[in-house]
Amino acid sequence: MKILISDPFAPSLPDRLKQFGEVTEDKSQLPEADIALVRSKTKCNKEYLDQAKNLKLIIRGGVGLDNIDLDYAKEKGIEVRNTPEASSIAVAEIAFTHMLAAPSNLIEGHNSLIKGEWKKKELKRTELMGKTLGLIGMGRIATEVAKRAKAFGMTVIAYDKYIDQSDFAEMKSLDEVLSEADYISLHVPLTDETKGMLNKEMISKMKDGVIVINTGRGKCVIEEDVAQALKDGKIQKYANDVWYSDPPDPDSPLLSAPNVQVTPHLGASTKENLLRISDIIVEIISKFK
Ligand code: NAD
Repeated sequence: MKILISDPFAPSLPDRLKQFGEVTEDKSQLPEADIALVRSKTKCNKEYLDQAKNLKLIIRGGVGLDNIDLDYAKEKGIEVRNTPEASSIAVAEIAFTHMLAAPSNLIEGHNSLIKGEWKKKELKRTELMGKTLGLIGMGRIATEVAKRAKAFGMTVIAYDKYIDQSDFAEMKSLDEVLSEADYISLHVPLTDETKGMLNKEMISKMKDGVIVINTGRGKCVIEEDVAQALKDGKIQKYANDVWYSDPPDPDSPLLSAPNVQVTPHLGASTKENLLRISDIIVEIISKFK
């Protein structure tokens, strides 16, 4: 059996997989690979799957399967698995990092001080305590964000098209979440329904001065509309981990908009998460016939 590791995983993974056969990180060996391990970077589109003549299993280390043409993989008899439960804490923590940093002006404070400026008076902070967090998509990651928000004294409300109950948030309609939340955090997968869902119409229903955090998928958002709302002050701050592409186009309107706080798709990239993903991959392959 040949296992192709296409994207970066925990450094110890190749050694752990040797018990199952030959392990390679050489992408030119895709045509001979039985199993391909990918994260979000490798795009398993038709062209990729057509090259993979011997492929029987793709394991996506992580949650979103939007980088894999699932219908075509099924047509070719290739099984697709992911590790959805591994990443929840890692992504929830980066969403929460953004949520703490934004009202504390962490980025502005750091950058101005490094430049020799002392903005103690200008950089007014606000607290999370007593504010309302609106979660869009109330799955695994949002649930972990909700638990942390409650510990910080926030009221947590959520909208999910497919879930109407949660132990950690009061479920509401989308319009209610948009109009009541001081913070909105996006946690939906990228699907035909969610592509571009955060657009000017949705923004117009939000509170003035809302802080929006996106650690879900870049394409769930119309970047131009968010950039305009930042310029208008409708959105006070936009914290973003996810992009139309990795890395983003240098012309992305988000990169030149005011009051953005950005990270280079770091959500799942914790040491602990990569080890959890490795454990699950080893388990999946050990049971794969
Ligand atoms: P999940 O499946 O547990 O939760 C997603 C929730 O979104 C579900 O409850 C689902 O019902 C809901 N949903 C789906 N379509 C919807 C719609 N149209 N409107 C409202 N709600 C809808 O997934 P999760 O583990 O919480 O992950 C969520 C997303 O986070 C992933 O799909 C992925 O895109 C993203 N993610 C990002 C990173 C990162 O590095 N930033 C890492 C992992 C996952």
